Amino acid sequence: MKIKPTGDLAMIKKINTAIVLEAILKHAPLSRAQISERTGLNKATVSSLVQDLIDNQLVLEIGQGASSGGRKPVLLIFHARAGYAIGIDLGVNYIRCVLTDLEGAVLMDNELPLKTNQQQKVIEQLAACIDSLRNVMPDSPYGLVGIGIGVPGIVDDQGMILFAPNLDWKQVKLQQALAERYDVPITIDNEANAGAQGEQKYGAGRGIAHQIYVSVGIGIGTGIILNKELYKGASGYSGELGHLSIEMNGKPCRCGNDGCWELYASENALLEQAAPLGYSDLDALLQAAEDGDRRVQQLFSRIGTALGTGIANIVNVFNPDVVIIGNRMSRARQWIGPSLQETVTRRSLSYHREKLQILFAELNDQSAVRGAAYYAISRFFIKTKGGV
Ligand SMILES: [Zn+2]
Repeated sequence: MKIKPTGDLAMIKKINTAIVLEAILKHAPLSRAQISERTGLNKATVSSLVQDLIDNQLVLEIGQGASSGGRKPVLLIFHARAGYAIGIDLGVNYIRCVLTDLEGAVLMDNELPLKTNQQQKVIEQLAACIDSLRNVMPDSPYGLVGIGIGVPGIVDDQGMILFAPNLDWKQVKLQQALAERYDVPITIDNEANAGAQGEQKYGAGRGIAHQIYVSVGIGIGTGIILNKELYKGASGYSGELGHLSIEMNGKPCRCGNDGCWELYASENALLEQAAPLGYSDLDALLQAAEDGDRRVQQLFSRIGTALGTGIANIVNVFNPDVVIIGNRMSRARQWIGPSLQETVTRRSLSYHREKLQILFAELNDQSAVRGAAYYAISRFFIKTKGGV
């Protein structure tokens, strides 16, 4: 058998570089000797790979660690500001964007109201948001490494928005429109998937294997993390649990079904039921509940029950470690939490609840935007680890 030594050696070097970088990302600060111990690679190999990473400005040497007898070792850290990422959460009535470093820390954020759903105007506003961050981005070796965007709809793997019912969009080539303006990788995904990633990497889901993120806003979407990986299904369309049927003869939904979960448990459902009480937005309702308005408190409690009903189904299907309630309704935690918990307990199977925790988003309204930035960061790492 003939082997191609150069190809194989190059591949081995790429794999080993990825292993070294991963060790530094996870456990820094580390000395070269500690990297060698952790990875099982010999010290000469580690030294050579570390030098490449330093030359590529992805790793920095800092101070000196404690000596175990001989010369004090130099410690290595990941150079988080070797480049920057932009994350965007395109809401139905707002655009939120953040500039992060390569560890996902937020340097700057910006939010503007979205008063139109007209595609061209929305794209202009997205561009304005991106530019506002790019203009203040510090100089760095890699500059802007990518843009990630969470959108309230179903997205195919080419970044085309197939269907965004609450924006009234079908077949919108958002990725293509932005790629014409920006020469960096652009990743577009559903906002609930982005929110699930945000909580998994930086929020309440850190270190948790099986996490279902329930984004409760104008509609309801879910992002499913199994074994710490986002589960996207055969075509990338998983997670449309807002359209779980919970009322067999229920109200008609825009999706064509009747009795969908989001018709009873979303912010829209809340506002619909709040209208006869004279309220038209979430902030006013939260204030009224705070001020002791019993009718409003009972309304939140009903929404909690409706949320719990759908979550009980999710718990029985997935047996997750955690369910995280995110997006705007997470602000009503205090008012929806008790009835939600009680309903899940009453309606789900006891075996499935043994390890179950129901949590609220730790990143509050930044779950999706931080997750969107993470898409850009992870793409950069995939490319870098394969290419150093
Ligand atoms: Zn539906």
